[in-house]
Amino acid sequence: MTDSPAPVPAIEITDLTKVYAGGKRALDGINLTIPRGQIYGLLGPNGAGKSTTINILAGLVNKTSGTARIWGFDIDQNPRNAKNSIGIVPQEIVFDPFFTPFETLENQAGYYAVPKERRRSMELLRAVHLEDKANAYARTLSGGMKRRLLVAKAMVHSPPILVLDEPTAGVDVQLRQQLWAYVRELNHQGVTIVLTTHYLEEAEELCDRIGIINHGRVITDKPTRELIAMAQEKVVQVTVDRDVAVLPADPSFEKVELADERTLTITYLKNRANAGQVLNAVQASGLSIVDVVTRDPDLEDVFLNLTAAA
Ligand code: ADP
Ligand code: MG
Repeated sequence: MTDSPAPVPAIEITDLTKVYAGGKRALDGINLTIPRGQIYGLLGPNGAGKSTTINILAGLVNKTSGTARIWGFDIDQNPRNAKNSIGIVPQEIVFDPFFTPFETLENQAGYYAVPKERRRSMELLRAVHLEDKANAYARTLSGGMKRRLLVAKAMVHSPPILVLDEPTAGVDVQLRQQLWAYVRELNHQGVTIVLTTHYLEEAEELCDRIGIINHGRVITDKPTRELIAMAQEKVVQVTVDRDVAVLPADPSFEKVELADERTLTITYLKNRANAGQVLNAVQASGLSIVDVVTRDPDLEDVFLNLTAAA
């Protein structure tokens, strides 16, 4: 093989805007580069513009201006290749209730002109645990089953990118675990995953990189670990040897509260103090420390701070 150039990103979005008929500006200049091979989380409060962005990539919504490239293919100049490079599970569940799951996948394969010998409808149904429903009517499936069928449908043409828009909204915990297991497996096989979710814990656990959008703009786009490190507030719970009569005070404390008679909850900013200083201050107030529990800041802290500021 000859030297190959650096691979183009999985998705590249530049100055993307969308004004809906009626005047709602849903996207106000989105810029995003989603690298290949990752699990990328697109987060943002309701109405932020996540689905609009994804539906533009899917060809379901026409953009107002800007460009989008999928696997290097411009969605305007090369729509067929762009479309073939991506599989999308939309937020809204829509499909023909009179087809069986097997037929649904076969129809989709036909739509993408996947040759018979390369179809793998049963394999996909097995992967999403719907094998035994292969010949049931789609309308008899539960919500969670329909969602999984849509994931299989999105993978029919073996795209290198799979996008899931709020895939676990309304899906129970067990199904969620199954869905994420499948998504992880696809990612291990090399599929780039993009998902939107409201469950921050899930994004934190699953995603390599996270973009947060609000009011149609990108407020941040970083590796998950860096994003979490941005949270400055840390909390330490200190259990002491006697009932606390007077709350200790110290410049290193941001906030101090009593959780119960002998437990203090102290918040401090990690750029201004460290746990050692906080604990020393407690001891200096005459209390002996019996136990200490710390809580690290999580994505929720960062998310709330960023979206509140924007
Ligand atoms: P999210 O998926 O982040 O919740 P959406 O992309 O669905 O956000 O919506 C972004 C904004 O665009 C919202 O204010 C929403 O009400 C508006 N919007 C979405 N779809 C339409 C539409 N078809 N017509 C008019 N406004 C829309
Ligand atoms: Mg949405």
